Amino acid sequence: MTALQPVRGTRDLIGEEFRRAHHVIDTARRLAATYGFDEWSTPIFEDTAVFARTLGETSDVVTKEMYTFTDRGGDSVTLRPEATAGICRALVSNGLTQSLPQKVFYAGPMFRYERPQKGRYRQFHQIDAELLGVAEPLGDAEIIALGWHILTELGVAKDTVLEVNTLGDRESRDAYRAALVAHFAAHRDALSDDSRTRLERNPLRILDSKEAADKPFIATAPTIGPHLTESARVFYDRLKEHLARFGVPFVENPRIVRGLDYYNHTAFEFVTTALGAQGTVMAGGRYDGLVEQMGGPPTPGVGWAAGVERLSLLLAEPPAMPRAVAVIPVGEAAEAAALDILQSLRRAGIRAETGYRGTLKRRMEQANKRHARAAVILGDAELARGVAQLRDLTSGEQAEVALAELAARLS
Ligand code: ATP
Ligand code: MG
Repeated sequence: MTALQPVRGTRDLIGEEFRRAHHVIDTARRLAATYGFDEWSTPIFEDTAVFARTLGETSDVVTKEMYTFTDRGGDSVTLRPEATAGICRALVSNGLTQSLPQKVFYAGPMFRYERPQKGRYRQFHQIDAELLGVAEPLGDAEIIALGWHILTELGVAKDTVLEVNTLGDRESRDAYRAALVAHFAAHRDALSDDSRTRLERNPLRILDSKEAADKPFIATAPTIGPHLTESARVFYDRLKEHLARFGVPFVENPRIVRGLDYYNHTAFEFVTTALGAQGTVMAGGRYDGLVEQMGGPPTPGVGWAAGVERLSLLLAEPPAMPRAVAVIPVGEAAEAAALDILQSLRRAGIRAETGYRGTLKRRMEQANKRHARAAVILGDAELARGVAQLRDLTSGEQAEVALAELAARLS
């Protein structure tokens, strides 16, 4: 029989890989809390409409990447490709549009049918922060500052650049769209098939194209700057002032658009050159139209999502391996007493384990193999005197210690 394999594009996280992912999520969770964010959890699958309606019928995610299936009851459900739509759905379903702002942190698996490669998987994980109900550019700046703070604490900020742009308000965007259509229509026949379709349905998305055929025309495309309304320009200026005040370094990149329809004003990405083609580690923007599309009242929102796998790959130092204390009995009376000692160490919060069988030599080998930091060696005679041998497995030093003092010595 051939051994079963994980589904293409999915991965098992074991040992160091798990510790890396866990460290990324833990750091983000802790910092999000210091900015006043609460963590939410929403279902891994939703009605397909939650994504189809909001991500835009023409987006890559909806047309090519969604895991959509009909369940046994005949309903169309989709494994979530991202967190924002589900969070906004939850905001509306739970009547929370009446208690704004909501500051939401999220961490969990996402699913996209993509071509797997380094840093790109079919099941991957995101950390995500959303600020709902804040229309001021201070909200955009604060959420970016949180992202930057997380990257800094993870030690990856030095390898990434924050690029910001504005998509303006509706009026700016309409004027910009017309300018883009005029530009790209002149090169219609040379564009990729996808971009010719985008030209009809959402010309802004052409700027997001990774096709070589589109690159020269993207390079010469007009920028939004001259098309911004006065109020959109002021919004963008405020954002940049606040970022400077928060001490977040950034560059402006007029080519950044978000792939999804509901974004306006701020768009940003933290990019790195350290991961080949998978250069974006964190991406986000403002999406004032999304909650309304979900059937709620008009509610401003701004947020970002970051790929946990990409951040894990960037971590310079793998998080330290946990090291236990090995409790090793030698003799019959010691076997029983070892269990008491094991539990007293655990009650004191000390990571402690014992082998399940074997001689002293065999158990010492086992302890070393599991990278134990110390061994508590218990002989029957020593037990009778209320002591044990405590050996430091890093230095090799050994000393007799009273059982009553073991926990204190190992803390
Ligand atoms: P890309 O341009 O790399 O396809 P995207 O624009 O589709 O990214 P978003 O939808 O903005 O990505 O998701 C936010 C972040 O989630 C990305 O910046 C990336 O770090 C991560 N991410 C997206 N898709 C994947 C994937 N298939 N595997 C691993 N991480 C991913
Ligand atoms: Mg993508």
